[in-house]
Amino acid sequence: MNTTTQNKKLTIAIDGFSSCGKSTFAKQIAARLGYVFIDTGAMYRAVTLYAIDHGMFFGCELNAEQLIAELDNIDITFRYNPSRGAADIYINGSAAEQRIRTIEVSNLVSRVSSVAEVRQKLVAMQQAMGRDGGVVLDGRDIGTVVFPDADIKLFMTADPEVRAERRYKELAAKGDNTPYEEVLRNVVERDAADQNRAISPLRKADDAIVLDNSHMTVDEQMAFFMNLYEQKVCR
Ligand code: C5P
Repeated sequence: MNTTTQNKKLTIAIDGFSSCGKSTFAKQIAARLGYVFIDTGAMYRAVTLYAIDHGMFFGCELNAEQLIAELDNIDITFRYNPSRGAADIYINGSAAEQRIRTIEVSNLVSRVSSVAEVRQKLVAMQQAMGRDGGVVLDGRDIGTVVFPDADIKLFMTADPEVRAERRYKELAAKGDNTPYEEVLRNVVERDAADQNRAISPLRKADDAIVLDNSHMTVDEQMAFFMNLYEQKVCR
């Protein structure tokens, strides 16, 4: 690769189903290319955590009007954490990276991500953060809504059981003993909610390339991606 092609800063969109390993993969790609990684799911989780903490949920029912009225008071920022090799999320200046990953937030986040005003706010933030390229974003609507002109679009999928097993192990490693069946139910329900919501539903962009990683190693996925990347920058 010559210097010109190496300097071309691409926008890379990674969409797909929940618990496919999108974030891990996007983070690895960003590290490899020296790009910025933006975890858009973390932003929807952060707004959900704020709604929980401010009593906006009654069981699983969200008081969407209250959330919309308070949206301007929710300040979401990222700060790079060298020990993780990625940015941690903060809500109004308070660290929230750990708390947004609980099963409680996973169970409620689809209610929040289906609110149009929440999506408007977060999409605008994501577009501003990725404006100059050199970014890898992972989410559900990156290739369709946030950056429809992204240079590379991947749509990741894997068997629900494989995804639930991975998420179950991740939670267990953090000392969270949520049973496998509940994790699987959450994965399946979130897929359905994300695909069927009225605004920006999860769908593959027409020009996205499908990556089913049910039976792929991390190295195989990276090789698959680098092949696409090199085709793009060496054209
Ligand atoms: O990627 P992650 O599983 O952390 O995303 C959590 C939730 O946030 C998803 O289930 C989805 O409801 C929402 N989301 C979204 N659009 C994105 C990213 C995430 O609606 N771009």
